[in-house]
Amino acid sequence: MTTIWIDGALGPLDAARPSAVAHTLHYGVGVFEGVRAYAREQGADGEGAVFRLDDHLLRLDRSARVCSIALPFTQAELKAACLEVLAANDFTEAYLRPVAWQDDGTLSGLGSDPPVHVAIIPSAWGAYLGDEALAKGIRCKLSAFRRGGHGSFFARAKINGQYVASVLAKREALRAGYDEALMCDDAGFVCEGTGENMFLVRDGVLITPPEDASILPGITRDTVLTLARDAQEQLALREVREQRVTRDLLLTADEVFLTGTAAEVTPVREIDGITIGAGARGPVTAVLQSMFFDVVRGRRAMHDGWLTPLSPAPQ
Ligand code: PMP
Repeated sequence: MTTIWIDGALGPLDAARPSAVAHTLHYGVGVFEGVRAYAREQGADGEGAVFRLDDHLLRLDRSARVCSIALPFTQAELKAACLEVLAANDFTEAYLRPVAWQDDGTLSGLGSDPPVHVAIIPSAWGAYLGDEALAKGIRCKLSAFRRGGHGSFFARAKINGQYVASVLAKREALRAGYDEALMCDDAGFVCEGTGENMFLVRDGVLITPPEDASILPGITRDTVLTLARDAQEQLALREVREQRVTRDLLLTADEVFLTGTAAEVTPVREIDGITIGAGARGPVTAVLQSMFFDVVRGRRAMHDGWLTPLSPAPQ
């Protein structure tokens, strides 16, 4: 039985139910995060660590501010709660889902502003798109569903209701036999996957859409950009560039890969039936992927500042 943290206390997952009239269930104003803890192979006796926890909790807080809901817990309290819930479940490797929603147990209209509840749910998720995906790459579909523009959509925030198009695009891609969907904005620029940022390599240049595109500024994206800039020479990259990505640029890339807390660094080998590069994990992707796993598993000491060690389970 999974133990979760909810509104300040640990409890069984099964017992935690928002009411059927929860405002967020009806209208979608709520926020969430996805965080991962990894076992470390070096460092403090191989114990686990949460990757970039402060950055995830800051984004949760900012997502909440964007839709003017006040989280009833401080960043420090939520950080302690994440560690507590991992210890309670004896997890060293886990995916963590902090989520905040509004519910006062009464059916209310759009203008009501019910109290905010927060839960942190751990899960034993392995590779989100599968181990084979990490090694061999995935097949993507360019979806007809759009990533919303800045006029109607808060791209930088993880707001529950904003995931409708992503869910539908993902389901559509799976039904059509693909592994993942890529979404464009209304102007036709390719933005990102349904829960991942997108990178491509072409002619020795690493390219990803800029932060003011309709993308979630992913924490894995930032990690990969940092690693790529640090190791530009080793990667034989002429440049690391943030630039809007047209479909023709994407389809003629030498390498494409997706990044995300869940998807980690996943190569893309085919888009809409068109083979990308050699149709396998490319050389730049392979090096960045292994650097990423080195960082999260504590094998690159220079980035240990991104790791929050797990606290031992209470005896
Ligand atoms: N884009 C979207 C829409 C996402 O939901 C996610 C997952 N949080 C990402 C990109 C990747 O972000 P991160 O690397 O912070 O997990």
